[in-house]
Amino acid sequence: MTAFSPSRRRLLAGLGAGAAALALPPPLRAQSGALDVAIIGAGGAGLTAARELAAAGLRVAVLEARARIGGRAFTDDSSVGVAWDRGCSWLHASDINPWVAYARANKFEVQPDRWPRHVHEGSQRLSGTVTAALDRLQERLRGEIQSAGRRGLDVAAEQALSAATRSDPWYPMAVASATAWEGVEPSNFSALDQFHFAWKGDDLVIPRGYGTLLAHYARDVRVRTGTPVSRVRWTARGVELQTPAGTLSARACVVAVPSSVIAQAALVFAPALPVEVLQAHHDLPLGLMNKVALRFRRNVFPGEATEVLRARRSDGRGMSYITRLWGSNVCVGHAAGAFAHELEAAGEAAMIDHALGELADMLGGDLRRQFDKGAATAWSADPWSRGAYSHCLPGRFGARAILTRPVGPLVFAGEHTEQSAYGTLHGAHLSGKRAARQVVELLRG
Ligand SMILES: Cc1cc2nc3c(=O)[nH]c(=O)nc-3n(C[C@H](O)[C@H](O)[C@H](O)COP(=O)(O)OP(=O)(O)OC[C@H]3O[C@@H](n4cnc5c(N)ncnc54)[C@H](O)[C@@H]3O)c2cc1C
Repeated sequence: MTAFSPSRRRLLAGLGAGAAALALPPPLRAQSGALDVAIIGAGGAGLTAARELAAAGLRVAVLEARARIGGRAFTDDSSVGVAWDRGCSWLHASDINPWVAYARANKFEVQPDRWPRHVHEGSQRLSGTVTAALDRLQERLRGEIQSAGRRGLDVAAEQALSAATRSDPWYPMAVASATAWEGVEPSNFSALDQFHFAWKGDDLVIPRGYGTLLAHYARDVRVRTGTPVSRVRWTARGVELQTPAGTLSARACVVAVPSSVIAQAALVFAPALPVEVLQAHHDLPLGLMNKVALRFRRNVFPGEATEVLRARRSDGRGMSYITRLWGSNVCVGHAAGAFAHELEAAGEAAMIDHALGELADMLGGDLRRQFDKGAATAWSADPWSRGAYSHCLPGRFGARAILTRPVGPLVFAGEHTEQSAYGTLHGAHLSGKRAARQVVELLRG
């Protein structure tokens, strides 16, 4: 593990071309003293906490390492000419997901994900009768993991699977779906933790983008971007945050960065965090999902409507493709787990090439010649996320609950702390609300 302590020069380099001409941000010390709460991280959790705390009348500062807000909720409007979410895109658990009501109240269209799913074997589209066996297996696989969780078994999800499930000819594809839930293969996540995720209601999709929705929610939150915090000094009386622009003091601090940032010592604490708290960050690593967006010059897909396509393969190296995104000629492919790491390591061009190869095998024709441009994510190498979403290691159930308890003036937030909604943007939001309540209690106390 390497300590990551960004220098001012790196901060400017991260701002892109022309950044060197910018003046450095004014020193933070000017604002210190009267601050009630410092929030580290302007993702869904930190932005929610900021809104709640400001509404409670507290003086708040939000420090964000990247040059933008949103964290892992980010809609890309520029790379392929259509809004596509580089991070979160589905509003999961729509019956209990607070973003659904927020979207509707603010005139964002949301739609149920009713896109038909198809599997191709080579260039042949398999019939629904054939792929019904895959649907049944996926249900059985989920049921077996849930059943182990219900019995309180904190084992690797893979251990919960019956011999019949594992020997099913569709098993590699069912495992690829399960890998997308947590960003790692079932051998690496806890069945008990997965059981505690509340799947209530269908998945919804949002044409303007989930990242755009979060940006709308946070439009009035003042965030100091380009300001990575490298060290948090804390005592019972408050915190001092070290950044390239100086030191900021506050009476309390919401730490709303991904678990991996703390586990990999990119943000350090003095004195060190209690052992069980640091251990909990290690027990909730981020799995990986990466996406690739491909734009074609004309419609190269079988029809006008959006579909979700997968190739039948036994090596688990297939992506899942959403075609004709919002009626455009853009298609977005998704890869998770070890395969996503492999693709990311190969680089953006190789990732695009892999996706084009798979699509050409399925759809043939002159698909490659119609390719116009593409873009791919690399969430694992991103120093401010270091992965896509958290999972709980087998045998470590309870780690999320540990992170809901304040440590002196420190309150932790982020999707990884939310037991029933971890790995999601609504989980991040709920954790930000919980953290804000705790800070208010802390400061009153
Ligand atoms: C590819 C992908 C697909 C996903 N799909 C879905 C989906 O369909 N539905 C869904 O609900 N969720 C999905 N998720 C997960 C969802 O995006 C996250 O759970 C959620 O956005 C996390 O919010 P957060 O506030 O906890 O963390 P983040 O969004 O990561 O916010 C943390 C912030 O802290 C900042 N930061 C880190 N270190 C420092 C530091 N040292 N100093 C200052 N700032 C720092 C980061 O830059 C970031 O802005 C997906 C994620 C990915 C990557």
